[in-house]
Amino acid sequence: MAGRGDAPAWNDDGALELARELAASPPPEDPVPVQEAIARIDRAAAMGFDNAGPGFLAYIPGGGVYTAALAELISCVTNRFPSMAAPAPAFAAIEVGLLRWLCREFGLPDGALGIFTTGGSMANFSALVAARHARLSEDLRDATLYVSDQAHHSTAKAARLAGLPARAVRVVPTDGGLRMDVAALRAMLDADPRPFYVVASAGTTSTGAVDPLPEIADAAAAAGAWFHVDAAYGGFFGLTARGRERFAGIERADSITLDPHKGLFMPYGNGVLLVRDFAALGAAHSVDAGYLQDLAGEHAGIPDFSAYSPELSRGFRGLRVWLPLHVHGVRAFRAALDEKLDLALRLHDGLAADDRLEIVPGPPELSIVGWRLRDGDDAANRALQDAVNASRRVLLSSAVVDGRFTLRACILSFRTHADRIDELISLVRAAARA
Ligand SMILES: *Cc1c(COP(=O)(O)O)cnc(C)c1O
Repeated sequence: MAGRGDAPAWNDDGALELARELAASPPPEDPVPVQEAIARIDRAAAMGFDNAGPGFLAYIPGGGVYTAALAELISCVTNRFPSMAAPAPAFAAIEVGLLRWLCREFGLPDGALGIFTTGGSMANFSALVAARHARLSEDLRDATLYVSDQAHHSTAKAARLAGLPARAVRVVPTDGGLRMDVAALRAMLDADPRPFYVVASAGTTSTGAVDPLPEIADAAAAAGAWFHVDAAYGGFFGLTARGRERFAGIERADSITLDPHKGLFMPYGNGVLLVRDFAALGAAHSVDAGYLQDLAGEHAGIPDFSAYSPELSRGFRGLRVWLPLHVHGVRAFRAALDEKLDLALRLHDGLAADDRLEIVPGPPELSIVGWRLRDGDDAANRALQDAVNASRRVLLSSAVVDGRFTLRACILSFRTHADRIDELISLVRAAARA
């Protein structure tokens, strides 16, 4: 942690050699000193991308709040069973308390609750399974679901895992701001015999575009389809005043995916699914088992989470979120998210001031800024990205916007501040000049 500010944003020096060595190393029969074992991990940890560092602006940054590691230590050492109420009622209740708080923050009514998952992909999977069960029961014939051409691929993956054919996934075009074209969605819903599931993005992964949630909610309701909001990247901006405004309509969702390991700066392994009708999630996931008859059932209103999720035995994921929220206070998270929105505007202004560059598709809605050379083909833009990344002070990744190579920066680490964004602006403008 102490060296992180000056550490390279990415490092591949000797990485492949070490990877080959580790991949070829079985565990020893005899013990090795713990310091020696940890030293090997230390070397490995310095390789690759520093996803939690201040210069990591590629893909979606991870946070890695260290207080979550303390929670992980406690949950590993106690090793209770939080996925059922009877064996660990107070631990399960900690997850209930967090989920109730999130439901309130996003305007979901009483009766809504959810589950902690390993990430957004698993949350999107359980949402789709709940919708399939609620709207289609066991007859999947002619069923269709809707995502925009900017949606995360995890919904298409979930559809396949849930037994739906590839043709069931209908891709809706987007407008100039890369938001779902609702007129096109309505036309597709009208034409299809069994539309059952509509996914809106509250922050797309490529550009951070927020789909028109109220209009999509109307269209889904008119078609009798389940309305899911994938807010894995952007959702926690809903803890800020500006984010709440941008997400108007999210309170009408049947389900919402959130990723604490993105927008709450937690270490990887924390996703959340909120479901308006929690009982529908249970109906889709619960199966009786005789060997659990001594345990099953709610206690003091605390559910058996295993009856609402694909998992039975699992770690205490809620505590990794609970402890940081208590130790730092929710206000610190709201302030950090507000800072990310400010930094995105700062980056936008710094790049827009250079006429060699054009901002695409437009000013940031959340914390992702996209740009490219005004007079440059894909190869020139790729060279611009390589030149900036060669500094190792930042790491950028690219996206395809309007069929063209586009550089992007996603600002979501609690360690990224104005100094690093100003450095990025200088690096990009110098490379564009060159
Ligand atoms: C990251 C992301 C996902 C997948 O989440 P994981 O936690 O990586 O599984 C889903 N949807 C969106 C919009 C995302 O940005």
